[in-house]
Amino acid sequence: MSTAFRAKIRQSIANESLQAALDANAQRRVQGRIAAFASLPDWRERRQRAHAVRADVISHLDEYLDQFIAKVLENGITVHRAKDAAEAINIISKIVGADGHPPLPKLIAKSKSMVSEEINFNHALEAAGHRVVETDLGEYIVQLRGEKPAHIITPAVHLRRREVGKLFQEKLGIPYTEDIPTLTNTARKVLREIFLTADVGVSGVNFGVAETGTLCIVTNEGNGRMVTTMPPIHIALMGMERIVPTLDDLALMLSLLPRSATGQKLSVYTQLIHSPRRADEVDGARERHLILVDNGRSRLQHSALQEALYCIRCGACLNACPVFRELGGHAYVGDDGSIAPYPGPIGSIVSPGLLGLDRFGHLAQASSLCGACKDACPVDIDLPKLLTRVRAGNISEGRKQEAVSGEQKAESSKQKAGGSGVGLSLTSGIGLKVYGVIALSPRLFALSQKLAGIGSRIVSPFSQWMWIPSFTG
Ligand code: SF4
Repeated sequence: MSTAFRAKIRQSIANESLQAALDANAQRRVQGRIAAFASLPDWRERRQRAHAVRADVISHLDEYLDQFIAKVLENGITVHRAKDAAEAINIISKIVGADGHPPLPKLIAKSKSMVSEEINFNHALEAAGHRVVETDLGEYIVQLRGEKPAHIITPAVHLRRREVGKLFQEKLGIPYTEDIPTLTNTARKVLREIFLTADVGVSGVNFGVAETGTLCIVTNEGNGRMVTTMPPIHIALMGMERIVPTLDDLALMLSLLPRSATGQKLSVYTQLIHSPRRADEVDGARERHLILVDNGRSRLQHSALQEALYCIRCGACLNACPVFRELGGHAYVGDDGSIAPYPGPIGSIVSPGLLGLDRFGHLAQASSLCGACKDACPVDIDLPKLLTRVRAGNISEGRKQEAVSGEQKAESSKQKAGGSGVGLSLTSGIGLKVYGVIALSPRLFALSQKLAGIGSRIVSPFSQWMWIPSFTG
């Protein structure tokens, strides 16, 4: 495990305020998810259908991309394909700076986009002289602090309200307060001016619908609608795997995503964008660009980690993970100390998968393999299996078949031996099962640490980690 990662783990566990913030988030999110799924009696069946839809898309990604791109173009949106982060930044810079050499500095209003984190969007555009303002409240807070998001859904998950109160006092000049309506109204006032004056709006894309060329954006604060309709130019950044074949498939995903992400039956705003502003329309961007980002996804598609591309970025596996709940997202760092764009269980697979096993492969060690992430996943990704593959370094192109057939052989010997697992030996499988039971119980876990004579605690003394409700429970 890298030295930088070890140091971050120690810092996180010793940080009392972080532990309180993470505990509060995990309990609220996990309970919210369970309550939201209680209103969906056929969720098990939906989950399997969602898995099948994502598996079909990833297996036939080229065909679906061709269909999607043809429709998007037909709808009047300009499509760009970027093979990596540098190419994506180059395309964006040309769009933003199309008015001259050198381009005039632009004001860019941005809504939440994990792809933008992956390609280091803010840093690159600011280095070119533009001003980028995050408009999702959590993202705005971490931007004011000069930080990266600490969670893929709740970027400011590591903060408590007193820290936000101090931040707004210092950066926005208001009297110190912990009153949430006052804090949000302050941010709203600042951001409204940004929406009204921005030259360019940048958003992510939750799903692209192949049959219609629709861009679906899911938000809770309305900032997504503002950045896609107020500025004259809109740039949508989309991971090339985020396609669903039909609008019915989109409806299926929308029944699972908000429930898993925030415990809502539906997010407050679900936008379906089809085209730039038409002649008879009074608002909307006059120019829309879609940038389809590969940045390692093609490689991942042909690797033993292909299933990681089924992910719909709901963040439920982070909230369920006993390790993430102790560390938070900022502890997931590369060997050079840089923060991984994607933390937690799925991040420990896609960060090395997309950005390099050498840089981020050690993140997969930060898992108890207890299976809570798999239970929580709305598209039933076998995260523990993928984590063991990253640990084994078994992710390169051409290794997919090898890994799968190895696991099939192991599965068949296990069935003969009456065992279960993910392609491990019978002894390892039993060991992991025992560990899984222990890891699910803080008391047993603490006792096991004592019995094992582990001097330093793995679970923070400040943590209130007491239970992990299961998605299947
Ligand atoms: S792996 Fe599953 S639970 Fe985790 S973010 Fe992706 S869809 Fe959500």
